Amino acid sequence: MSSEYDQIEVPDEGSKVTYEDGELVVPDDPIIPIIHGDGIGTDVGPAAQSVLNAAAEATGREINWMRVYAGETARERYDENLPDDTVDALREFRVSIKGPLTTPVGAGFRSLNVALRKKLDLYANVRPTYHLDGVPSPVKDPSEMDMVNFRENTEDVYAGIEFDAGTDEVAQVREFVEEEMGFDATIHDGPVGIGIKPITEFGTKRLVRQAIEYALENDRDSVTLVHKGNIMKFTEGAFRDWGYELAAEEFPERTVTEDELWDEHDGEAPPGVVVVKDRIADNMLQQILTRTDQYDVLAMPNLNGDYLSDAAGAQIGGLGIAPGANIGDGRVLAEPVHGSAPKYAGQDKVNPSAMILSGRIMLERLGWDDAADLVRDAVEAQISAKRVTYDIERQVEGGEKLATSEFAAEIVERIEERA
Ligand code: NAD
Repeated sequence: MSSEYDQIEVPDEGSKVTYEDGELVVPDDPIIPIIHGDGIGTDVGPAAQSVLNAAAEATGREINWMRVYAGETARERYDENLPDDTVDALREFRVSIKGPLTTPVGAGFRSLNVALRKKLDLYANVRPTYHLDGVPSPVKDPSEMDMVNFRENTEDVYAGIEFDAGTDEVAQVREFVEEEMGFDATIHDGPVGIGIKPITEFGTKRLVRQAIEYALENDRDSVTLVHKGNIMKFTEGAFRDWGYELAAEEFPERTVTEDELWDEHDGEAPPGVVVVKDRIADNMLQQILTRTDQYDVLAMPNLNGDYLSDAAGAQIGGLGIAPGANIGDGRVLAEPVHGSAPKYAGQDKVNPSAMILSGRIMLERLGWDDAADLVRDAVEAQISAKRVTYDIERQVEGGEKLATSEFAAEIVERIEERA
């Protein structure tokens, strides 16, 4: 292996995932970097590794793990939060997985999760949201939910262009907005904080492209652009317009709008064609509850995506279950939605399903669909058997409470039995 790192060890065995002509090229023995993460990361990280190893082996492959460090473990080892070696390894080896990293509220450092997404340009946060049999849910029929949410990861009000009340900067911005741009009597008198919401054509189109490509590759029926363009016409409205424009420009034969669907196809999309539609974000939050099965792949600006993917996640069982991944061009960093839950850290107690199912996304992105299906089916069978961690056990009748490691070990057995 040619790579040179001061701080981390590259495994002796295994090969590199590469990226050629817009596709990941994956060997049967890839080197995969893993960050266990802070807090309960020390519990769910090893649990997920054991399950993913079993699924890889059962399908004739081998994962060569490369431990890399960020957050607390990096501070202990190297006295820094996010070593360059870690970022370089995630960049070089392309497909990786991480557990949660703690972000102190207020003072301290900025989110390492955000820093990683920025440094690696992982511009889409992708959250498959589907129900596993046996997982308790607050809705009547959680099985209707089978969505994949694509949330833009780099812009919108999360761009970090914010000015604190009382500073010279905010006074300058206010003066510019009021005097140069003519918005007088729009901002109330007195202290004000101001944030700027950039939504670019570039940022929108690459996100929507990824969502449409995913829908086409996975035989999904529709991609819905979720926006608040009725109010924020030049940001959210532009997101909608650029989304439709991208579909028409780059996928003219493979996409139709809802109007075209009815005008030209009597409401029935031809095989291999995805319907591109749009919904206002507040309405969409109702629709995911009331017309759940009509939605499939969603593409959203950052803030809408944040709210909507959590709301959707609650419908299928919440944080212990919800998987995710951050995806850029030729790079994947899978990670569970949940945080580091410090009060449960190191207790071998929490649910590793979200981390394991994030690993499932990683397997799918490696092109190992057979291994990914084994993982899903084994987790579902385990939960259906009511042999679960505390968070699920307390919600189901007749369940048996298992430790994180016991739960993972039984999933491994199920994979080995099925293989
Ligand atoms: P959290 O997700 O860590 O925990 C909230 C609660 O959810 C926990 O107390 C627990 O009751 C439950 N929970 C979470 N994961 C679970 C699991 N696997 N199994 C069972 N129950 C689980 O959210 P928080 O308390 O708001 O955040 C704690 C820290 O995590 C903060 O520093 C935050 O910034 C960070 N965080 C990191 C990420 C990330 O790394 N991507 C995401 C969210 C939060």
